[in-house]
Amino acid sequence: MEFLRATSWADALSLKAERPGALPIAGGTDVMVEINFDRRRPDALLDLNPVSELAEWHRDGDHVELGAGVVYTRLIDELGADLPGLATASRTVGSPQIRNRGTLGGNLGSASPAGDTHPVLLALGATVSAASVRGARTIAIDDFYVGVKKSALTDDELIRSVRIPLGTGPCHFAKIGTRNAMVIAVCSFAVALDVAARGVRTGIGSAAPTPRRAPDAETFAASELDWSGRTSLDGAVARRFGDLAAAAAVPINDVRGTAAYRRHAVAVMARRSLHWAWEEYRACA
Ligand SMILES: Cc1cc2nc3c(=O)[nH]c(=O)nc-3n(C[C@H](O)[C@H](O)[C@H](O)COP(=O)(O)OP(=O)(O)OC[C@H]3O[C@@H](n4cnc5c(N)ncnc54)[C@H](O)[C@@H]3O)c2cc1C
Repeated sequence: MEFLRATSWADALSLKAERPGALPIAGGTDVMVEINFDRRRPDALLDLNPVSELAEWHRDGDHVELGAGVVYTRLIDELGADLPGLATASRTVGSPQIRNRGTLGGNLGSASPAGDTHPVLLALGATVSAASVRGARTIAIDDFYVGVKKSALTDDELIRSVRIPLGTGPCHFAKIGTRNAMVIAVCSFAVALDVAARGVRTGIGSAAPTPRRAPDAETFAASELDWSGRTSLDGAVARRFGDLAAAAAVPINDVRGTAAYRRHAVAVMARRSLHWAWEEYRACA
């Protein structure tokens, strides 16, 4: 297996164009598992670690632009206040070692239905900046996940960064696993309020072939929440929101849980996370 080492972003793009079969490697926490278990045997690896641009993030007006190579530990330490939902999801990833190596771009590159950042990125309406030598493009997060562990990236494309709106409103993430740490989600859920637009967005993880939103639950909650009066969340509204979120899930039975349990868990997490988000909004009055 050849090991290609990109020295800059431009170099990474031209190497990927020359060798579309070369598998990008960032933290390697997914790639090395695949190789060690012989699930994948690419003829080349394309190491993105020397590409310093990928490890940067910056604020751009009311957005934050996160390089694909930003690791979870930095998301937690440096962006916990601006992006608390993403930081919460990041805290649940693996162990300290995995959080020190694993990147946001790697989570997206793997596009696992169980990846912990996906529900939050969906709820926040993130966009993914991808590029190849042919040019750059922006992919709305809603269009990014196209199948089980499949993304909208073409063979010659790399993820440059992820753009996330800031300050739209509370965002909460919940995850169920078979233990408290070092666990792949049985299922997960995120909700974000867009206070100015009086909107609600969601993300469901590990309960469908791809991470996905629950549009009916979003529309229902947005119309039922008392945005002006900020009265507390009606229990019946929370329950209906949970039921609609569960109805959007298409879970399977597997070693981590049954489809029935996952549907139930999505309903519970949806109900609770809407409650947390709404209480946070009310507290800011
Ligand atoms: C012990 C253990 C525990 C884990 N726990 C969790 C967990 O709790 N939650 C969770 O979500 N994940 C978990 N993971 C999976 C993994 O850590 C994450 O998916 C992580 O985000 C992968 O990032 P990475 O930088 O290591 O990616 P890599 O392994 O380097 O790459 C992953 C994929 O992304 C592609 N890729 C990487 N960067 C780019 C780029 N810039 N452009 C295009 N493609 C790219 C690679 O080619 C590959 O297909 C765990 C893994 C291990 C080994």
